[in-house]
Amino acid sequence: MSSKEIVAKNDDLIEVRNLTKFFNIGEKKLKAVNDISFTIKRGETLGVVGESGCGKSTAGRTLLRLYEPTSGQVLFEGKDLAKLNANELKAMRRNMQMIFQDPYASLNPRMTVGDIIGEALDIHGLASGSKRKERVQELLSLVSLNPEHMNRFPHEFSGGQRQRIGIARALAVEPKFIVCDEPISALDVSVQAQVVNLLEQLQEKMGLTYMFIAHDLSMVKYISDRVAVMYLGKMVELADSESLYEKPLHPYTQALLSAIPIPDPEINRERERVVLQGDVPSPIDPPSGCHFRTRCPKAMPECAQKEPQWKEIEPGHFAACHLYN
Ligand code: SF4
Repeated sequence: MSSKEIVAKNDDLIEVRNLTKFFNIGEKKLKAVNDISFTIKRGETLGVVGESGCGKSTAGRTLLRLYEPTSGQVLFEGKDLAKLNANELKAMRRNMQMIFQDPYASLNPRMTVGDIIGEALDIHGLASGSKRKERVQELLSLVSLNPEHMNRFPHEFSGGQRQRIGIARALAVEPKFIVCDEPISALDVSVQAQVVNLLEQLQEKMGLTYMFIAHDLSMVKYISDRVAVMYLGKMVELADSESLYEKPLHPYTQALLSAIPIPDPEINRERERVVLQGDVPSPIDPPSGCHFRTRCPKAMPECAQKEPQWKEIEPGHFAACHLYN
């Protein structure tokens, strides 16, 4: 039985309540993440999707407290991260790690791979001396890299291998939860599937929980148990993968999905292709009411006046759109 099958329902590892992160830009505020609420269950992968600038990466970083939230709460195993003191937060950080989009930029070029991975062990006092070396080699094997290569530098590895080093570094502290911030976007298509497979195997083996951030729905389809869609700092839809791909409720999700070609020509013929007009408005000055209304093919007069509420439309299927009010 896989680790996913034995996960109890409603076993939330993370609960996010009304999380908001604004950045000050001169006199104005950039509303990067604007009042989002969701949960991540133990052992699941929550895919988070949206165009660049929608706030998905900021949401991941704020969740890990790499950014201080402007308001709202993040609960990890029921504990409010904002209420932890510095020591408790340091201990908690072990549980929550991040894998970055660009493996080139996130690895120090002057450090050996052994030291990059070993640094995480040092920070948390997890291993020293020969134990440290053993553990680094074990982690390299875990991500299918040659343990003999621990004295090499990042430039001696390919893009896919560098991403494996980033994964080994995240795993060094035995986390429960990993935010994977577009971990395959910078890789060649041929290597993307290998990295996704590795992440899935590790999840199975170690009972990991992932938030997997991507800019398009096709990338998260196979790895995600549930998928959330973000637009201009707001979460607009969240559902289990099957419901979201088969019966998207929000016009923005429908548009994103219609851009993905389906191998079955019959389904492709039946499906309406929605082409979004215009660009994404600025998160400094988002449209009134529904932020998506300036590009929504189904916009109604009330969409400009009232912000749609985040609602559970069908069991486990959430959306924010006046069509369902
Ligand atoms: Fe479109 Fe209105 Fe729904 Fe927004 S609330 S997605 S503008 S129909």
